[in-house]
This record gives sequence, C-alpha cells and structure tokens, in this order.
Amino acid sequence: MRVLVVEDEPRLLRNLDKALREEGYAVDTAEAGDDGLYKAENNCYDAIVLDVMLPRLDGWEVLERLRQKKQTPVLMLTARDAHSDRVRGLDTGADDYLVKPFDLLELLARLRALIRRSVGQARSRIEIGDLLIETRARSVTRAGEPVALTAREYSILEYLALHRGEVVTRTELYEHLFDENDDTLSNLLDVHVFGIRKKLGQQLIATRRGQGYCIEL
Ligand code: CA
Repeated sequence: MRVLVVEDEPRLLRNLDKALREEGYAVDTAEAGDDGLYKAENNCYDAIVLDVMLPRLDGWEVLERLRQKKQTPVLMLTARDAHSDRVRGLDTGADDYLVKPFDLLELLARLRALIRRSVGQARSRIEIGDLLIETRARSVTRAGEPVALTAREYSILEYLALHRGEVVTRTELYEHLFDENDDTLSNLLDVHVFGIRKKLGQQLIATRRGQGYCIEL
C-alpha cells in the first residue's frame, strides 16, 4: 500500500514516514499544500494523511480540489477539537480525522481501517482456502503454519488478496506498492511474485499475460 503524508512539521513528518515504512507502506511526503495536491492528483495512493494547517494551500483547500478529481481516502489531522472543524471535514469529503496531538498507534489503526473500507474489506483477516492473511499483524499462515514472506512479498500478496477476483496490472502494483524514490526495474516485480509462489505454491497467483496478476475467487 502506498500513502502520501502532507505535513509541514519536520519532526512529525519524519516520525510518520518512519512509522509507516516500518508498517510496510510505500511512503511519499509533501511539506506544503500545493505540493501535496500535485502528488495526490498525479499518483495512485491508497490513502492520504493530510494536515489542516499547511503553507501555501491549507488542508481544506487541498481536500476540496482533490475531491473534484479523486476519491482517495483522506485522514485529516486537525489542530483543534472544534466541532466546526469536524463538520467541515466531513462536508468536504474527509473520510476520517484525528485531533493533534494523536497517538501514533491510533493513526496506524485508522489508516488500516480506511484502506480496508475503501476496497470493500471490512475485516482485518483475509481467508483464501487454507491461507490466512492477518493484515493487522502482516502475517500469513497456511493450514495454521506460519509462512515467512519478505515485506515486499507480503505487500504484493495483500494487495492481490484485497482485490481478489480482479486482474491487477503490473502498473497498478508499481503505483500502489512502490514510492516515488523506489527503483522501478520492471523485472523486480517478477522476482517478488516468484518468491511468493515458491513459498505458497504456483496456483495461488495467476499470471494474465500482458495484463497482470490475479488471485481467483
Ligand atoms: Ca501544520
């Protein structure tokens, strides 16, 4: 999953970037509203963490302009617990909000919930036959036995599992799992999928030639 964090406080931005990467997200950052809007409009994020008080363009304006083009889930960071802020946020199309200062673990939990809801998966467990994916723990078991995947292998498997029954193109995987600083050598994806198949069998992920990958329903 790839997220964008728009936040102008350097220390908070660094902490969020680090925490999200540790959770396995690909992370892009922006420190001003206009940069954030540009990235949000031009990249495919699974969620955006958006501060309200930002230089050049505030969070409300970013959200309003973004909503004219895209429905990417947005978690707003508001400075005050003002009722009017909350109403405004929900009116403008924010999907959730947190009041500063917030608990990092709560932000991570809400972000996970936001992404799950946006792909129509309300639960944090995905079962495919005897395969169980726990998105909260980022763990995979097969018939009760733990399977050790690399962070990247896990991300690819989780994305395909959340979009089960759909063909996910290679481009989509790159856009959602790799951040803007990642090296996008096209054969890299094959290496990770090869790794998943080696651990979980050839049958799980089907290759659709010229299109992408699919976990069948
Ligand atoms: Ca701010």
